Amino acid sequence: MTRNTSRRQILQGLITSSVVVGFDTISCSWVAFANTAESFVNLPYLDGVLYTDDTTRASAADDFGHLIRRYPKAVLKPGSVNDIVKMIKFARTHRLKVAARGQGHTCYGQAQVENGIVIDTSTLNKIHNIDTNQVVVDAGVRWSELLKATLPQQLTPPVLTDYLELSIGGTLSNGGIGGATHRYGVQVDNVLELQVVTGEGNLLNCSPYQNRDLFEAVLAGLGQCGIIVRATIRLIKAESNARVFLLDYDDLATFTRDQRLLIDSERFNYVEGQIVSKQDGGWRYQLEAASFYTPPSSPDNTSLLSSLSYNKGTEKIEDKSYFDFLNRLAPTVDFLKSIGVWFNPHPWINLFVPGTFVEQYISDVVSTLTLADTGNSPVLLYPVKTNRFTLPLFRVPNEPIVFLFCILRTAPQNDDTTSARMLDDNRKLYERNRDLSGTRYPVDAIVFSQEDWKKHFGSVWGKLVNAKRHYDPDRVLTPGQGIFNDFKKPKKIN
Ligand SMILES: Cc1cc2nc3c(=O)[nH]c(=O)nc-3n(C[C@H](O)[C@H](O)[C@H](O)COP(=O)(O)OP(=O)(O)OC[C@H]3O[C@@H](n4cnc5c(N)ncnc54)[C@H](O)[C@@H]3O)c2cc1C
Repeated sequence: MTRNTSRRQILQGLITSSVVVGFDTISCSWVAFANTAESFVNLPYLDGVLYTDDTTRASAADDFGHLIRRYPKAVLKPGSVNDIVKMIKFARTHRLKVAARGQGHTCYGQAQVENGIVIDTSTLNKIHNIDTNQVVVDAGVRWSELLKATLPQQLTPPVLTDYLELSIGGTLSNGGIGGATHRYGVQVDNVLELQVVTGEGNLLNCSPYQNRDLFEAVLAGLGQCGIIVRATIRLIKAESNARVFLLDYDDLATFTRDQRLLIDSERFNYVEGQIVSKQDGGWRYQLEAASFYTPPSSPDNTSLLSSLSYNKGTEKIEDKSYFDFLNRLAPTVDFLKSIGVWFNPHPWINLFVPGTFVEQYISDVVSTLTLADTGNSPVLLYPVKTNRFTLPLFRVPNEPIVFLFCILRTAPQNDDTTSARMLDDNRKLYERNRDLSGTRYPVDAIVFSQEDWKKHFGSVWGKLVNAKRHYDPDRVLTPGQGIFNDFKKPKKIN
């Protein structure tokens, strides 16, 4: 055993046959035995394991989209925050790129890095301290795990995503939107403090009161300036039950009018909606709203539904536990996994459409949309209030109400033509929305140039460029987003 190889690395290495002790700076390859060549550099001592085997690398070269594959040189499963500090410093010195990967549920290579190092945060998985109004949690923890830990104390994060098996770090680097967003903003709006490793390998705390520029560059910052290793997240009182209402509409304008009314009055805790295929062709609309309660108190259905114009008599009303409601996608995901469809390509498109244009834009889209375009997968449409958003890099149209519109497409396996057609459609839909001053929620699959990113960030592009220059001057972090890759000489922007 060399001085720089831990016993744990050796044990893991026996299993993976992939122990490396150093790096050859000329061939840019890992070295299994220490040697005296000038180009040999020792790997730093790690508490976790650096994997270089094909299986681990192949898994980090893929994501939920299955559309892009970029093979990293290695995958770090950190045993400590210090491992991330050391690995980023090492990567920076040897001109390697680094990307954090939470659960790899983005769709277009966002967490991938060709010939670089993927840091798989799933081993950073401790929930440190649950207080009456906040929790301190590692970035690799999944939201389902956090919720299971806080609920026994009748506490919950204010906003949860529709699917809970996403990492804290992954959604905080994008935004984290859900049915409670009309009340509480996105998940990033509910973060009190972060611990971040910057692109220089510095471990820093940041919050609205300390290193605020870093805080604002990292939340919804698409992994460009730092890797989130720990977050302090606000908690609110959790009710034990959810009464869930599914309301049908034939008409888009009536549907969106009722959605607007509900988020304006805040009479429900949760409001979303879907565009659903009709049996005889075409599309209808389904509003999903939930009211949270703890018996013996219970929601008053009559007042909750008053002045809504859904198709009377078609409403479905169901009571569930709060956890089962939030975890409602789990049975569907289990089913999709059992039939293999979960592993198909996912050329998703996620847009924010300005409220002023939503009826026009969506009716245009659905007039030609078919089940072959969606792959028989969900189409989401729901409004949120932009005055709830506090972070500059979470980009939404400049209007009081905007609609999240997502076509969560599934393409057939081994059918590159259909995937390419769906990606092409995504680009066209993106451009039509952009021309109406709409934006994109960038967890999806859209071919995007640096010019597109500049437009996307708009007035805060200069802020991101400055933060990148300050916190990741050698552009080590997260090339998979394609924001700074072809960005040669950043000019100083004040
Ligand atoms: C079934 C499903 C349902 C979804 N539902 C919702 C929803 O309701 N609302 C919503 O907002 N989103 C939703 N998403 C999208 C999801 O939020 C994003 O894909 C999110 O990034 C996934 O988290 P992840 O841990 O898989 O991140 P990854 O895909 O692993 O990473 C995403 C990006 O974040 C970066 N990153 C990851 N961890 C860190 C970190 N610790 N520090 C800095 N950067 C990091 C990565 O490098 C990458 O660029 C859904 C996705 C799926 C597949």
